[in-house]
Amino acid sequence: MEKFFIHTMGCKANQFEEIIIEENLTKHGLKKVSKINEADLYILNSCSVTHKSDNEAFYLLRNAKHKNPLIKTVLTGCVAQTEKDSLLQYDFIDYIAGNDEKLNLYDVISRTSYAVSDIMSKEKFSKVSIMDSGKTRASLKIQDGCDNRCSYCIIPFARGKSRSADIDFIINEIHNLEEHGFKEVVLTGIHIGLWGKDLGLSLLDLLKVIEKRTKIKRYRLGSLNPLEITDEMLDFLAVSDKFCPHFHLSLQSACDKTLRSMNRFYKVDEYLRLIDRINSKFNLPFLGSDIITGFAGETEEDFEVTRKNLEKSGLSQIHTFPYSIRKGTVGAEMPNQVDDREKERRANIIKSISQKKYKEFAGKNLGRVCEVLVEKHPDKFDGMLKGVTSNFLTVHLDTDDLTKTNTICSVELSQFKDGKIYGKKLFS
Ligand code: SF4
Repeated sequence: MEKFFIHTMGCKANQFEEIIIEENLTKHGLKKVSKINEADLYILNSCSVTHKSDNEAFYLLRNAKHKNPLIKTVLTGCVAQTEKDSLLQYDFIDYIAGNDEKLNLYDVISRTSYAVSDIMSKEKFSKVSIMDSGKTRASLKIQDGCDNRCSYCIIPFARGKSRSADIDFIINEIHNLEEHGFKEVVLTGIHIGLWGKDLGLSLLDLLKVIEKRTKIKRYRLGSLNPLEITDEMLDFLAVSDKFCPHFHLSLQSACDKTLRSMNRFYKVDEYLRLIDRINSKFNLPFLGSDIITGFAGETEEDFEVTRKNLEKSGLSQIHTFPYSIRKGTVGAEMPNQVDDREKERRANIIKSISQKKYKEFAGKNLGRVCEVLVEKHPDKFDGMLKGVTSNFLTVHLDTDDLTKTNTICSVELSQFKDGKIYGKKLFS
């Protein structure tokens, strides 16, 4: 096997691990290709967050084999981890690599038989591949796994208990990124608020070290659980000149009854107060969230509670998806499952609240001069450059001057049109 094509589904952790897979295979002489018909190895880095994504993974693998019966297929990621017992029956899968094994995929494809590793605790946090990622913002995985047991979620079964990368590893990786010209790093993981629990430390301890020992211009945090944000952390971040005021605070439902049945341990009031506290401590922070609609037992009245609470919240954007039953979770066994069409209907209502919130947030930013990190790739439609503000707004710039890429420029946010923000002036 000489040429591989890789397809990654799902979360930031998976996207990050795609880079490691690539690095591992190219180190062993394989070449990455961008078209599946040029490859003799097809790697699917799968996501198992919904039942739909499992089916999509099987469809993609079957299709790859159907189009080219000689191609070798690898299933890795969360579907490989959670469905391992049942995968051996599929003749369109040649290799299976669990989440630990994916980091050294070359070993797996060098074997002649199937293998799935169960040894979560042996996972190493592999180095970031930065040379050819083609991105302006680098993701750095600092944590994996989760100790919680939200009743809808399969992730703890797929990725095991929380493990943290150690501080020196993280600092070295950030130095590495600085040396390669990266201006921004996004700290990612499955549940980064748990960073340090296994090391007797906290996420705040890590952030203090990053501030002190690195010169990276900006850093951003992945999704956080509201219970893990303390006033001490907010006070520290509020005076940082490196932290990007962008919080993704997972919520899942804005109804206490539904949160209890989801096995999530905060109250909606606490969450809304946290949002207000963040809004008062930072200048126009971006506040994103996630909502699952139609979880088992969510009545029309429960959903109305969620809808009203979201309407009055100070959120900037809300990602939403209809609940998907995951075999092996508590939620799958619960009575009163909600009809699929009703889940979709509720999701559409939340989507329109999100659009309204985003428009309001964008409107508040118009007229400001913001620091924008200009991305490497121009917009596919008009060829103009775009970039991201520290408070996570994508800004379409009035230039196609490629010398500006990967620089931080001052841009006046001038217009919001068709869901996009435009920046009028650009000067370094
Ligand atoms: S916190 Fe809950 S939803 Fe998030 S990974 Fe852990 S179990 Fe899953």
